[in-house]
Amino acid sequence: MNVDKLMNELEKKHPGEKEYLQAVREVLESIEEVYNENPQFESASIIERMIEPDRILTFKVPWADDQGNIHVNLGYRVQFNNAIGPYKGGLRFHPSVNLSILKFLGFEQIFKNALTTLPMGGGKGGSDFNPKGKSPSEIMRFCQSFMLELWKLIGPETDVPAGDIGVGGREIGYLYGMYRKLARENTGVLTGKGINWGGSLIRPEATGFGVVYFAQEMLATIGETLKGKTVAVSGFGNVAWGAVRKVNELGGKVVTLSGPDGYIYDPQGVSGKKIDFMLDLRASNEDIVKPYSYEFPEAEFHQGKHPWEVKCDVALPCATENELNKEDAENLVKNGCLCLTEGANMPCTPEAIEIIQKNKILFAPGKAANAGGVATSGLEMTQNAMKLNWTAEEVDAKLHQIMKKIHEACVKYGTTPEGYVDYVKGANVAGFLKVANAMLDQGLV
Ligand code: GLU
Repeated sequence: MNVDKLMNELEKKHPGEKEYLQAVREVLESIEEVYNENPQFESASIIERMIEPDRILTFKVPWADDQGNIHVNLGYRVQFNNAIGPYKGGLRFHPSVNLSILKFLGFEQIFKNALTTLPMGGGKGGSDFNPKGKSPSEIMRFCQSFMLELWKLIGPETDVPAGDIGVGGREIGYLYGMYRKLARENTGVLTGKGINWGGSLIRPEATGFGVVYFAQEMLATIGETLKGKTVAVSGFGNVAWGAVRKVNELGGKVVTLSGPDGYIYDPQGVSGKKIDFMLDLRASNEDIVKPYSYEFPEAEFHQGKHPWEVKCDVALPCATENELNKEDAENLVKNGCLCLTEGANMPCTPEAIEIIQKNKILFAPGKAANAGGVATSGLEMTQNAMKLNWTAEEVDAKLHQIMKKIHEACVKYGTTPEGYVDYVKGANVAGFLKVANAMLDQGLV
């Protein structure tokens, strides 16, 4: 494999698809060695087949607002790879959604899902619809219109969507309701469902819990724990919420949260009722974190800034892609950060990762560290198939076990001769080998 040649060809085919090209390059660079050691991959053109999605479905989503005005958004589903199981991955509703972003997310999902040890392929979808500022009935009409197209393409053994940014329990409810009506089937076709209609306990907090379980494993490699550690978190959505809860449980102190408007610094720690306040912030229909500083005056609000300038032992970026750049990484290094665990998908730019790894700070990519969300979706699928529910303790124990296994896989494939664990390489190689070998076994399809 020649990474530059492959990337040049891919760029020619998909010019301007920045995020997708960034995600592919990262994977190619880390698997190059193992790929070239195994000529069977090259002769079956595995990588050329893996970097293009199986298919992309684009559709229009017309909907009427509360005043009767008609709007048209774009809807997508990228079915990337189903060699090890049905396509699986979230739906993102956000104005920034475009094909490049969904292709990057769908591509990452292949490796992430393979790492969970569960049989799930990779996919992603969504729309450029902005749920912020919309009424509940507008959101319902949008979700129904979206599902009117999507339902033909998905199924419990074909493609199982879930939530992502802008798609939470409420949206999954409206989407599932329409699917059930059209398909006349109560199957586990979506995950993140409500607890009374097929959902799994722990799913809402699973991504954040998993991120912290993973950070715990990383810290253990240097003889450290989360107890007494200062933790900087970005975002205030679902992932951040679960992560903050678990850090508190394990004796750490979370001192930041962030939104598109800036970050808050709470020297006393985000704990107790302050964690519940995150849910109010989310429900407020505005995408801002500033009101936290009105509610809790001990917290400072820093307009337009990133939380990574705050001194911390552990950094958990849980907001969105490319939110932590070179300068942020330099600040973390300067302030003695020990461990950076990605809660969001690809929140660190390649330049930031280079700085963090060069300084031998523990660094784990989202595709390993945030896999707890989709892993618990996999556990929801299992419960739906069995028509049984596990208790919260059972699901949490399975999630914890899965995160440990992912960590083990990263250590196995990512430990350098000097003993530093390159989690990026470890995650990419472990995920790649599983999917590539499945593709080889199943022939050219
Ligand atoms: N959107 C989440 C992710 O990025 C969850 C996907 C799922 O549960 O299918 O992994």
